[in-house]
Amino acid sequence: MRTQIGIVGAGPAGLVLAHLLHLRGIESIVLETRSRKYIEERVRAGLLEQGTVDLLIETGVGERLKRECLTHHGIELRFNRRGHRIDFDDLAGGKTVTIYAQQEVIKDLVAARLAANLPILFDVEDVTVHDFDGGASPSIRFRSAGKEEVIHCDYIAGCDGFHGICRPAIPASVLTTWGRDYPYAWLGILADVPPSTDELIYAHHGDGFALHSLRSPAVSRLYLQVDNGEQLAAWPDERIWAELSRRFELPGWTLEQGPVLDKSITPMRSFVCAPMRYGRLFLAGDAAHIVPPTGAKGLNLALADVAVLAPALDALLHGDDKLAASYSATCLERVWRSTHFSWWMTTMLHRAPTADPLATQLQLAQLRYVVASRAAATTLAENYTGFAMH
Ligand SMILES: Cc1cc2nc3c(=O)[nH]c(=O)nc-3n(C[C@H](O)[C@H](O)[C@H](O)COP(=O)(O)OP(=O)(O)OC[C@H]3O[C@@H](n4cnc5c(N)ncnc54)[C@H](O)[C@@H]3O)c2cc1C
Repeated sequence: MRTQIGIVGAGPAGLVLAHLLHLRGIESIVLETRSRKYIEERVRAGLLEQGTVDLLIETGVGERLKRECLTHHGIELRFNRRGHRIDFDDLAGGKTVTIYAQQEVIKDLVAARLAANLPILFDVEDVTVHDFDGGASPSIRFRSAGKEEVIHCDYIAGCDGFHGICRPAIPASVLTTWGRDYPYAWLGILADVPPSTDELIYAHHGDGFALHSLRSPAVSRLYLQVDNGEQLAAWPDERIWAELSRRFELPGWTLEQGPVLDKSITPMRSFVCAPMRYGRLFLAGDAAHIVPPTGAKGLNLALADVAVLAPALDALLHGDDKLAASYSATCLERVWRSTHFSWWMTTMLHRAPTADPLATQLQLAQLRYVVASRAAATTLAENYTGFAMH
């Protein structure tokens, strides 16, 4: 097989990159270790920045998004049994955020690719990347339906997420990495019950953080801070609902409960690697950086990366290395801003297992400042709604 760009991974980064390249008349092949069904049902992100929504609509894969999304003009910070609204219309120059589940974005992108008869291979195995460090044409080896296959290409895009094979294929001596594992995790549920709120609620509570998010007028998404190492078996539905109700407690407000459709535990991690390019291999999305989900930035960062990468690859294929040379630095500027914002939201809202009473009071002082000071609230609103894409 021969193509211009070999794309490893059919997550948001890989699929949007393939789509943007196609619009520029550039050929690519997308390889994915999971099945189509699996990636179209995997429950993950749901909150899209304005720039992400604009990108999907402008490139023709946002029709269903426009019809089915929920638009939010603010969020609530809830602490000490009081709610405080951060108003994006007022503070973020009219920018909004949009609820549209990651698996729906994936469905739209896979459908667009298949409708255009473009190659995407699911269920591949043993993917390895080769000869990307010099002038030679790189290749990707893998097994598909039991057969050994090779793709020869001009460039490889490593869009294979945090646990993928592309980042580890770069010599460790050329990569600098920064990372932190947080001492808590998120237990997330998808529940078949109309949301008890019109906008996201971020709750600070002495027993830990809770988040009320939404997926549709009929389906709620809720998260609960739990200790690292917690097992789902220890969290029957009744215990989850009781704990959520306690952490969201507000006089006159009730958390509606319903059947749990999906349940998972996610570790919390900050991670950045640099550079995001090595020779003819480019990393994008979670393959290069991870943020804790409190700031809702991971998917948005993945799309921001590939919005820079597509024109850079286009120029490279025409012999111009300028955009590709600055790819890593351009992306990392946004990545570090989001890494800081996600860390800030996380540490302001979560109870550290070793939290001393002083730490809790400092969090509450910060929260009171954010809701009382226009400058502080604007900082939150501006970062949350996101910055313009390149
Ligand atoms: C609970 C939770 C909530 C979140 N909420 C938000 C949110 O509200 N907003 C937001 O912006 N982000 C959020 N995120 C983060 C977001 O889901 C990720 O940042 C996003 O999926 C990154 O996209 P990606 O394409 O870079 O990587 P991935 O989505 O991880 O895609 C990588 C793909 O590569 C495939 N793959 C792996 N290895 C190989 C291989 N060797 N060969 C071929 N394919 C391979 C994987 O199967 C996968 O399909 C959340 C994440 C979680 C877990």
